[in-house]
Amino acid sequence: MDVFGRSTVSEFVGDRIVYRNLEALDARLPRLAEVRQQAGLEQGPVPRKQDPVYPQVIVHLLQAARRLDAPDAAIQRLVYLGDTRLADASAFLSLCKAGGWPGVGFIGSESSGPAVTEVSQMDDQVWLVVSNRWAAVRDLEKVCAEHGLALDAGTALVIDMDKTAIGARGRNAQVIDQARVDAVQDTVSGALGDAFDPTDFRKIYDLLNQPEFHPFTADNQDYLAYICLVLGSGMFELDDLVASVRSGQMRSFDQFIREVDARQDDLLPALMPLHQEIFKSVQAGDPTPFKRFRRNEYLSTVGRMGELDDGLAVEQLLKGEIVITAEVRALALDWGGRGVLTFCLSDKPDEASIPTPELAGKGYLPIHRTETHVVGSD
Ligand SMILES: [Mg+2]
Repeated sequence: MDVFGRSTVSEFVGDRIVYRNLEALDARLPRLAEVRQQAGLEQGPVPRKQDPVYPQVIVHLLQAARRLDAPDAAIQRLVYLGDTRLADASAFLSLCKAGGWPGVGFIGSESSGPAVTEVSQMDDQVWLVVSNRWAAVRDLEKVCAEHGLALDAGTALVIDMDKTAIGARGRNAQVIDQARVDAVQDTVSGALGDAFDPTDFRKIYDLLNQPEFHPFTADNQDYLAYICLVLGSGMFELDDLVASVRSGQMRSFDQFIREVDARQDDLLPALMPLHQEIFKSVQAGDPTPFKRFRRNEYLSTVGRMGELDDGLAVEQLLKGEIVITAEVRALALDWGGRGVLTFCLSDKPDEASIPTPELAGKGYLPIHRTETHVVGSD
């Protein structure tokens, strides 16, 4: 593996990207409310990847993006790059179905040992390539050719951002996770002040982050950060909470935050405003209610991009920095040059991906515009 200088995700997708709110960063593209209106979809909460409305929104955005620079072309086929077998493969298949498109999807996750790349058929005219080498994205051109899929203005290349375009799974993804854990820790320690105990925090976070507790935390990092905060303040004991989750007495995060709210007098006075702000957002149905945590996540994420010196060894960069996946970038640049529409999807909350106006004034940029090293195999 080698370092190929520095770049940004925007080099190969421009502002054709949506973060979790599905509001395209390219201001010329329709807003989510307009997309829903134009596509005849009902208004409502922002759809997540597994919602049936999600692929319809993305298909509409892809066609709108295509019309911006190639008014005579229409998307007729899809190539999708992702890193998660279940979530990305099913998102890919649902996009093909919603668009009525044939397609080839790629799921990458690097591991040591012999290279294994498998092609399987998911549906009529829909194929999936799964590989333990990111370099295998280069095989996609051949797979497309075998199935008669041209690479031109009628093709959309949709790239998952997190752990695919940046922080490649199996290679560099742990730095993305570390940035998030650090943000939880910074937020909780900042709020608790002297009462913060890093050892306790790690114990609480690592245990409640396990899949066993997903029904309780909804696998939502905002909820988990809030729970760490309340436990860190000493209002609940970890053992007691774990026991009541396991026995079914504590069934959901909603129940937990209501209980905290009912016992406000036991809350550290310093935590009161923060609790009230988060409680209000949760009641309003905001899936990312812990704004301070997400702003810290933004800072700790961009703080790990492009910060290390040029000339460091590949291993050091992969350990310490969130880097761009060279193979994905090369493919996107090559295909983009042949007229293929490139588009990026990120599941990261917008608050953790885009700077506040104040930070933007200081020169901070959205993640996809933040420069970092490019690492991969030639
Ligand atoms: Mg991903």
